[in-house]
Amino acid sequence: MHTGQGTTPATPDFVAGRKQLLIGGRWVEPASGEGIDVVNPATGQRLCGIARGGAEDVDRAVAAARRAFEGEWSRWTPHQRRKLLLKIHDLVLDHFEELALIETLDMGAPLSRTRGLKEWTSQVLQFFASQCDAATAATPQNSLPGNFLTLKHLAPVGVVGGIIPWNGPLIGLWWIFGPALATGCTTVLKPAEDASLSVLRISELLTEAGVPDGVVNVVTGYGADAGQALAEHDGVDRVAFTGSVGTARSIVRASAGNLKRLQLELGGKSPDIVFADADLDKAVPGAAMGVYTNSGQVCVAGTRILVQRSVHDEFVERMRDFTRTIRVGDGLDPDTQLGPLVSERQLERVMHYIGVGGGEARLAGGGNRLGGELASGFFVEPTIFADASNEMTIAREEIFGPVASVIPFDDPEDALRLANDTPYGLAGGVWTRDLSTAHKVSRGITAGTVWVNCYGVLDPAVGFGGTKMSGYGWKGAREHVDSFLYPKAVYINLD
Ligand code: NAP
Ligand code: MG
Repeated sequence: MHTGQGTTPATPDFVAGRKQLLIGGRWVEPASGEGIDVVNPATGQRLCGIARGGAEDVDRAVAAARRAFEGEWSRWTPHQRRKLLLKIHDLVLDHFEELALIETLDMGAPLSRTRGLKEWTSQVLQFFASQCDAATAATPQNSLPGNFLTLKHLAPVGVVGGIIPWNGPLIGLWWIFGPALATGCTTVLKPAEDASLSVLRISELLTEAGVPDGVVNVVTGYGADAGQALAEHDGVDRVAFTGSVGTARSIVRASAGNLKRLQLELGGKSPDIVFADADLDKAVPGAAMGVYTNSGQVCVAGTRILVQRSVHDEFVERMRDFTRTIRVGDGLDPDTQLGPLVSERQLERVMHYIGVGGGEARLAGGGNRLGGELASGFFVEPTIFADASNEMTIAREEIFGPVASVIPFDDPEDALRLANDTPYGLAGGVWTRDLSTAHKVSRGITAGTVWVNCYGVLDPAVGFGGTKMSGYGWKGAREHVDSFLYPKAVYINLD
């Protein structure tokens, strides 16, 4: 492992500017008049403040979103919405360097990652632009006696509340804004208090691109007040939530008042299965980065690496060697591969699990918080626990940090039994050169996404989602767009 060194880009002016709430097309102060400190996790220093929005602000934002939904926006044609999404595409891409810097300063992901999201952002926006005709009407046949014309409309569900986590707002916000703008819904977004800056800057760009007042509203604040108020609000028709299982439970309860529709994208403890016949030159870095990418703060992270017993020791040794080549450091250094964890709280959580793992399994690499010039930031070494078993705490609970548990298995049945012995069902991976094993095992893993001889790739036109306690609903693809619409039948008696 190296610590990176290099030149530091200048902090964007946006960071020092005043941060407010976007409600009804205007930037306004929160009712509380209070702010929340934003900390740069690479230095532990305060970066700026954001507004502490609460229930009263959510009320105003939902009212603005409702007015916009029922107003002029409802008459926008698919072509107008498509043009708007393509304009947003161009504007966001033009500002991508600034956005990447803001994201790196706010939540720690290195520039090598945040800059790398530019092409993906282009894809996701173009994909949703291509879906603007989804709110269509069809004329299904009917077998009614007499002479009837039957129409089936797909209509926008209305006001969508979005609640997203801190691990990738530059990705997460498009899963709300994209389908909403494509279908003619309106939104109130509550980003995570630990990573709201890129969302706020993009919201300025949305206004600049010509998103009508009230179509997109942003209320920053804490989950327990702003988030809860949004989830409970009777004026919200659907909540799209990404986050933890615990919060999802409270959102399900909060949705009961007006029976709002829910989309829940939650966590995982995904298995990544390495067979003895796999090409270890690919499987070792592939499985390692399947855990360590974004310092392990990835919902689909393949944190349970199941390795066939005959290659377990070799795999662990090679993974440790690979891990030592990973550059951990301040994400502003363009050579940095892994940045800090998002917050001191997350650092404590991860160090706690590393302590637990030390008592359960064999520590085969990493395991420490980084000191020296990185001591004031929230940095943790990429960590490997070997000879682990599926019953251990580190193999059962989502750590959300750069911690891998390598678990030996004997045969494909054994691998599948272990892979599926988890309450989660978000993702999985298979590394093998055998076509039959690849098919059988990928079919056998109970998860929304399975990668074979790769890990973590995502095309917005294909999408991803979860099953079991990883939640429900699909992100990306037509399914996602359809979930922002409801079907409506019209029966016309022609006689
Ligand atoms: P979290 O605590 O559930 O927070 C997620 C969001 O919910 C934040 O905006 C949070 O606000 C808000 N929130 C907290 N309490 C709330 C409440 N009572 N009502 C409404 N909203 C509330 O999750 P996290 O720990 O920040 O994020 C990590 C989790 O997200 C992991 O489990 C990870 O696997 C999951 N994740 C899943 C996906 C996916 O697509 N499946 C993608 C990324 C992450 P504040 O943080 O501001 O308080
Ligand atoms: Mg921060």
